[in-house]
Amino acid sequence: MQASPRHGFGGRLSYVWQTARPPRPAPTGDRMTTRGELKYEGKAKRVYATPHPGEYIVEYKDDATAFNGVKKAQIGGKGAINNAITAHLFPQLEQAGVPTHFIERLSDTEQRVRAVTIIPVEVIVRNVAAGSFSKRLGIEEGTVLARPVVEYCYKSDALGDPLINTDTAVALGWATPEELTRIRELALKVQAFLVPYFAARGVRLIDFKLEFGRLADGTVVLADEISPDTCRFWDAETNEKLDKDRFRRDLGGVEDAYSEMLARVTREL
Ligand code: 5GP
Repeated sequence: MQASPRHGFGGRLSYVWQTARPPRPAPTGDRMTTRGELKYEGKAKRVYATPHPGEYIVEYKDDATAFNGVKKAQIGGKGAINNAITAHLFPQLEQAGVPTHFIERLSDTEQRVRAVTIIPVEVIVRNVAAGSFSKRLGIEEGTVLARPVVEYCYKSDALGDPLINTDTAVALGWATPEELTRIRELALKVQAFLVPYFAARGVRLIDFKLEFGRLADGTVVLADEISPDTCRFWDAETNEKLDKDRFRRDLGGVEDAYSEMLARVTREL
């Protein structure tokens, strides 16, 4: 299956979508797929209760924000693409030993997930200096790091997700030392799976952000999404950006970059 040409952001969304994944039936309205109360609305997703207490429905939106909500726009097709990319990667991460909240994709923009309480610690893994890391430390973007760097931020829109360390997270009761050890271990497992996965598809994984949650029994699982919203992806040959930096930095071609990433992620090798 070739979802789009290799170069030049070739895939129109409808084409990419139809060829990348067979269409699924729309939600049937049965017990498992009925949206209940809106539990949470973030910048890019809504989370709904379902009649089943252990499950939520996540709806991916086309809304894009940057710089702590200062810059806002709609990116056509983004919700469907991020839903599809996450739905493609999470089952493979499960197989690689990373428990996740994902159950199944329900529709273009919805997925069924296990209900979790999100741990308010965002985890960033970096392979190459970019973004806030470059700015904070004066390191040129594109500098390859000698080993992956794991950073932690407090998940707070009001504060702009400030950088923290694990002592802060424990002292303020956001996570236990054991949870943080597990989170780091899982983040590095995600890293170990994703780097070769993307390399095989002509993409350098520069950095990415993960969120983890607790199931009712306390088990820590990977939650949220893995998508061009939450990762930096650079073309392996040209270093062209294929992620949300195209929006953040007004580079143009945002929709095409997201479509290209869906095509590459779902490409069968
Ligand atoms: P930086 O700290 O350099 O801005 O971001 C590092 C990586 O984490 C990038 O791939 C970026 O997309 C992701 N990231 C960090 N914070 C957030 C956030 O609040 N929302 C999203 N969507 N991604 C984030």
